[in-house]
Amino acid sequence: MKSKIVMVTGASSGIGKATAFLLAQNNCNLILCGRRKNLLDAVAAEIKALHNIKITTLVMDIRNRKEVFDAVASLPESCQTIDALINNAGLAAGLSTIDEGSMDDWDQMIDTNLKGLLYITKAVLPRIPKNGDGHIVNVGSIAGKEAYLNGNVYCATKAAVDSLSRGMRVDLSRFPIRVSAIHPGAVETEFSIVRFKGDTERAKKVYEGFENLLASDCAEAIWFMLNRPAHVNINELTIMPVAQPNASTIHRKS
Ligand code: NAP
Repeated sequence: MKSKIVMVTGASSGIGKATAFLLAQNNCNLILCGRRKNLLDAVAAEIKALHNIKITTLVMDIRNRKEVFDAVASLPESCQTIDALINNAGLAAGLSTIDEGSMDDWDQMIDTNLKGLLYITKAVLPRIPKNGDGHIVNVGSIAGKEAYLNGNVYCATKAAVDSLSRGMRVDLSRFPIRVSAIHPGAVETEFSIVRFKGDTERAKKVYEGFENLLASDCAEAIWFMLNRPAHVNINELTIMPVAQPNASTIHRKS
């Protein structure tokens, strides 16, 4: 990919942050999105200290349709074209059987992982080139491919991201705009801390006894997808730790 403008949602942490660093290293200009302004500013400052690229930060809650459209409308003239959109922002909230789940958690996951992704995509699409240069990468999950115990609604939102990626690809191929999806297994980020509502001890246990993926592993896979020749689209890529052969099996060393 030549020097381009890439928007990354959920760039304040984890996979989005690692992707932002790798894109910057490869000379992309960035639009970094998230709710936590202090973290976005820190990521931007860290990247700028290393790489001579342009960075714009957009603070928004992707669940809020108006915030999303206002934020995108506020972009400077230099960001009228957005070559690639990395739809990464997302979360799991809670881990309970369907009969015991919290409806507030369900709303949060559906509003973020599904509706938020849709709002961002709708707001950004008019700026994505329709000549073959444009690309959307959706971050799904292995949870969207296989339901695991207690995962129910999170799994359903990621199955929706999988399905939407297929639908978007069919709809947007006429321009063409490329649409890819990445479905990671366990990656150590803030993900489990968020899922367990700040319980860092419980979150740490998720990654104990095996070698989980790093956010940078996912960033490299995303960069690979963005960098295929113009006639090639990676429809989807499932990336797993070797110790996690499927959604619900993890081989841990005791
Ligand atoms: P993370 O470290 O918690 O990062 C999540 C990012 O999403 C943060 O930057 C957060 O930013 C942003 N975000 C969450 N809710 C948002 C909202 N309402 N509006 C705007 N931004 C929001 O977790 P991660 O692992 O990097 O997660 C990134 C993506 O990978 C998610 O879609 C997740 O479902 C997926 N995934 C993760 C794993 C894993 O094991 N970690 C596996 C498969 C898929 P703010 O809090 O600043 O808003």
